[in-house]
Amino acid sequence: MSLRIYNTLSRALEAFSPLEPGHVRMYVCGMTVYDLCHLGHARSMVAFDVVQRWLRASGYRVTYVRNITDIDDKIIKRAVENGETIRSLTDRMIDALHQDADALGIERPTHEPRATEYVPQMLRMIGALQQKGLAYQAGNGDVNYAVRKFPGYGKLSGKSLDELNAGERVAVQDGKHDPLDFVLWKSAKADEPADVKWQSPFGEGRPGWHIECSAMGCEMLGESFDIHGGGADLQFPHHENEIAQSEGATGKPFAQTWMHNGFINVDNEKMSKSLGNFFTIRDVLKEYDAETVRFFVVRSHYRSPLNYSDVHLDDARNALKRLYTALSLVQPADVQIDWSNPYAARFKAAMDEDFGTPEAVAVLFDLAGEVNRTQSPEVAGMLKALAACLGLLQDDAQKFLQAGAAGVDVVAIEAEIAARAAAKADKNWAEADRIRKALLEQGLVLKDSAAGTTWEAAQ
Ligand SMILES: [Zn+2]
Repeated sequence: MSLRIYNTLSRALEAFSPLEPGHVRMYVCGMTVYDLCHLGHARSMVAFDVVQRWLRASGYRVTYVRNITDIDDKIIKRAVENGETIRSLTDRMIDALHQDADALGIERPTHEPRATEYVPQMLRMIGALQQKGLAYQAGNGDVNYAVRKFPGYGKLSGKSLDELNAGERVAVQDGKHDPLDFVLWKSAKADEPADVKWQSPFGEGRPGWHIECSAMGCEMLGESFDIHGGGADLQFPHHENEIAQSEGATGKPFAQTWMHNGFINVDNEKMSKSLGNFFTIRDVLKEYDAETVRFFVVRSHYRSPLNYSDVHLDDARNALKRLYTALSLVQPADVQIDWSNPYAARFKAAMDEDFGTPEAVAVLFDLAGEVNRTQSPEVAGMLKALAACLGLLQDDAQKFLQAGAAGVDVVAIEAEIAARAAAKADKNWAEADRIRKALLEQGLVLKDSAAGTTWEAAQ
C-alpha cells in the first residue's frame, strides 16, 4: 500500500504521487513573528514535522518551505509600542521561534523565507494579476484582488461567492468592488515607520499577507507543487486567496494536495487571550518536558481537534514513561527497519493512511510490551527506529526517566510489574497478589490486558 492523504480541496482521501517522481515539494504557512509561539503553532509545526519525516522515511527527497511573515499590521504595532525597529523585533521573535521548535524536536524546514526578502516577486505577481484584469487599484491607493473575476474562487472552502458574501458582515469599504476582495498591496500611511515602506509601480506601500505566501511558494517550489499545509483556521480566506492569486497569475494549478491540521482547545474551550486560557510554548515547557508535549500532539490524528488540559498532559507523560521504561530494560540494537516485519508493516500501514499517528503510536506500545516480555535488543531497536519516524524516544531512556520521574520511580515500578508477571507465570498467585497490593499501597493501580500490564494513579 502506498501513501494516501486527505485533500481538503477534493474533500477525499487520495493516493499521493508527487509531480516530480521521488521529490516532494511542500509549503506550510509559518508564523507572523510579532510575539512568542503559542500551542496552536506547536501543533502545526509538529504535525508537518511528522509529515516531512514520514515522507523521508518513505524514500522521498523533500523540499519543505515554511515561511516567516515579518511584515504585518501586528508587527508594526508591536514594534512601535516597544520603540524598536521592525527588524529588531522580528529577529528576536525568529530566534525564539527556533528555540521553541528545536526544543520540540522539530527539524528545520529546508527553507524559511522571510517575506520582506521577496517583495520584488510579490510585485511581479501583482503586476501579472493586474494585466489579467484580476486586480485593480482603488481610490485609496490599495491594490485589491477582484474575486468575482476568478472563476475558481471558493473551491477550497467549498462555498460559492454568494454563500461566502452572506457570512460577510463588513460593508464594502476602501473602494473595494466586493466585500470579499482582499488587498494585495497596501498603500503607505503617513504615520507608518519608514522601514515598512517599499517603492512600487502602485506607489509606496507594503504587501498584503496573502500575496506573500503565493509569491514565496511559486518562487521557491515552482508554480505547481505537491503539498500546501497550514492550520484549519487558514483554509478561508488565506488559502482560498492564495489559490486565487497563484492560479490567477500563472494559469496553472497551484498545490495539488491541501492539508489542514485541526484546532487546539484548552480545557474544551477555544484558546484565546480574552478567556485567559492562552499558553505560549514556553508556558507549557515550564510544566512539562518538551517530548511529553510533542507526544501529546503526535498521539492524536493531525486533523482531529486536540484538547489541552493538565490531565491529558499528565496522561501523555505517564504513557511516554512506559515506552521509555521498555527501552531502559535493554540496550536497543542499532537496526535498519525491515518493513516486512509485522510491527513495522502495521506502523507503515497506519502512517500511509493519512498519517495515522494514533495507530502508529499503538504499535509502539505493542512493541514496548514485547520488549518487556522478551528483553530483546532487536525488538527494542525496532521500537526506537519506528519512534524516530515520529520524532520520539531518541533521548537516553535512563536520563528521561530520571528527569521525568517527579517522585515516582518508574523503573522500580516496572521491575515490580515484571516480578509479578514472573510470579503469575510460576502460578505463584500469593506472591503476584502481594506485589499488586504493595503497589496499591503506593497509590498505583495495575491494569492487565492482552498487551501487558500498565499502571496508573489510584483515585
Ligand atoms: Zn500562507
